[in-house]
Amino acid sequence: MSAEYTVSGAVAVITLNNPPVNGLGFDTRSAIVAGLKKALADEAVAAIVVTGAGKAFCGGADIREFNTPMALAEPTTRSVIAGLEAATKPVIAAIHSVAMGGGLELAMGCHFRVAAANAQIALPEVKLGILPGAGGTQRLPRLVGVETALNMIVSGTPARSQDLAATALFDQMIAGDRIEDLLAGAIAFAQQVVKEKRPLKRVRDIAIDYPNHQAFFQFARNTVGAVAKNYPAPLKCVEAVAAAVTMKFDDGLKFERECFRFLVETTESRALRHAFFAERAAAKIPDVPADTPVRSIKTAAIIGAGTMGGGIAMNFANAGIPVTLVEMKQEALDRGLATVRKNYEGSVKKGRLTRDKLEQRMGLIKTSLAFEDIRDADIVIEAVFEDMAVKEQVFKQLDKVMKPGAILASNTSTLDLNAIAAFTKRPQDVVGTHFFSPANVMKLLEIVRAEKTSRDVLATTLKLARTIKKTGVVSGVCDGFIGNRMLEEYIRQSLFLVDEGASPAQIDGALQKWGLAMGPFAMYDLAGNDIGWHIRKRRYVERPDMAYSKIADAICELGRFGQKTGSGWYKYEKGSRKPAPDPLVDELIVAHRKTLDITPRKISNDEIIERCMYALINEGAKILDEGIAMRASDIDMVYLTGYGFPLWRGGPMFYADTVGLPLVLAAMNRFAAGYHGECWTPAPLLAKLAAEGKTFN
Ligand code: NAD
Repeated sequence: MSAEYTVSGAVAVITLNNPPVNGLGFDTRSAIVAGLKKALADEAVAAIVVTGAGKAFCGGADIREFNTPMALAEPTTRSVIAGLEAATKPVIAAIHSVAMGGGLELAMGCHFRVAAANAQIALPEVKLGILPGAGGTQRLPRLVGVETALNMIVSGTPARSQDLAATALFDQMIAGDRIEDLLAGAIAFAQQVVKEKRPLKRVRDIAIDYPNHQAFFQFARNTVGAVAKNYPAPLKCVEAVAAAVTMKFDDGLKFERECFRFLVETTESRALRHAFFAERAAAKIPDVPADTPVRSIKTAAIIGAGTMGGGIAMNFANAGIPVTLVEMKQEALDRGLATVRKNYEGSVKKGRLTRDKLEQRMGLIKTSLAFEDIRDADIVIEAVFEDMAVKEQVFKQLDKVMKPGAILASNTSTLDLNAIAAFTKRPQDVVGTHFFSPANVMKLLEIVRAEKTSRDVLATTLKLARTIKKTGVVSGVCDGFIGNRMLEEYIRQSLFLVDEGASPAQIDGALQKWGLAMGPFAMYDLAGNDIGWHIRKRRYVERPDMAYSKIADAICELGRFGQKTGSGWYKYEKGSRKPAPDPLVDELIVAHRKTLDITPRKISNDEIIERCMYALINEGAKILDEGIAMRASDIDMVYLTGYGFPLWRGGPMFYADTVGLPLVLAAMNRFAAGYHGECWTPAPLLAKLAAEGKTFN
């Protein structure tokens, strides 16, 4: 039973009990119906209170039931609500903590609602690309007014119960912090309703009077449509709320249902739900059980106060964890700290941080020139130059000074973490923490599991990721880990496309229009073309078998390293980050094609997208096959949180699934007959899944 039934005098109390948030799973729904039936049959019961045990009134659908037949089994949430609303005895919802989604819809099916202060009230379905499907769009406008309801439903943002106290959503606010106070208040309220013989208030019977609604909804369509862009759900929310005004209640319900059915099948909603579950899945490692003990992280240290070190330190300070930055020279520390302060000042200017908080956070960041000063830190993250000799020196020193049990982490982007771990006598304590630039902003944290990394170190690092508000995704050891290894193939294709006839601006335009936050060439200019050059030079030696376009080298040979030098693939006005095409680059490209004896051809935007995306996906399939990534959805999380991949496309592997793997494979076979076709050998896993009619996810 996932709800308890008790009787207090003449009031029956149905208490939802399905931890953690009393989700409306099949058992809970059935138990509510059973409780209601019992209460209605019991002559001694005059009123019914519905409430939730523990941390919520009700958080809505039970996510464990998502995409399972149980979600649709009777009694559905809609039938439960219909039953409550049709009850012949007064039903009172007693709300505390959280009433969201189906939980709020359930409460609106009751005849009365009482609430504790500070409860979170929301219909957040839009965030999963759907809309409230159990009457929420029809009942909320009847209770809080059309405009407030529309805002809540279109944004999905929670409101606090006391902020809605003046609306018809709540019949009474009940003082007290404890659930017992709320329950006592709810029972007293129920007794009063019985005593006064108050008529049962069915929300469905409330008439909405909203003159001028046509103009209002037209305005809403325009504003919401402009913001919603690639997401169909927000506009459907507007239409459903409009239906609450223009249609009879039952017709409105039917319309809401149709909208729900439509949205749930859209790729955008499937992508959002995929990302929702992918994020949760990424936090789980099959051979690291959930009850693995974790090490306590109360203090941290960072070696290197450069581009990454300072940003990483900010993450700890933001989470209230004291952190010490270590450098070789005082100037480097001063510079690093000044950058950190400048970043915080920026947040203060934008009104995102108070000056007090700024000083508080700066106060948590200490500096030192001596490794001895950080010996007691619970975790140390190395962010020095990307050079194995420097890493060796640092890790040998850390091994000497750090207390036993300290986690020794490296922010390396490309170096062999097993080799780094071997510089110490405690490889079990060594792990990769690959932050993305800017480290204080980007959500992604690739957690690199070396051969000997212990389970508790992994569990601790995953927990730390949550503490510092990052999305942790575990990767095995390989050059570039999950994200950058895949990106290399994407980069390769972007440069080949230039060889063949496309311009950087065309390629960037096509991919940006497709949904990427930034096209590849603008990205190279932002990151610094010298970084890729450095990697390529190493590759030419290590992997002479691979095909490369040398066009990017030609750009670098002119010192055009990107935004930081004022020119790269584009030119930049002083102080501007806006890329402007540069005729000089066009000339360079023309000359480059001549040396290759290539007559440029017209390349379609579709080909650009397919070549860049399928290169990414093919490498992703290899990474999955090799076990570098544990799941396809982990790869998707890496791209969604670290590479500006459009959320509504669900990540590269999810996208491949939506295209259909046989179609992806067919396109790759076509490309194999073209320019540098040798790059298009399908990953065995991709070929296998395509042949079996399966998907990555
Ligand atoms: P950076 O050159 O900006 O900073 C490195 C800092 O380390 C310098 O301030 C230097 O003085 C200091 N340093 C060098 N040796 C030291 C030592 N022995 N003791 C103390 N300090 C020392 O480099 P960065 O861009 O911050 O990169 C740092 C690491 O992060 C590299 O491994 C890099 O591959 C990785 N990384 C960089 C990015 C990026 O976008 N910049 C992204 C992800 C990962």
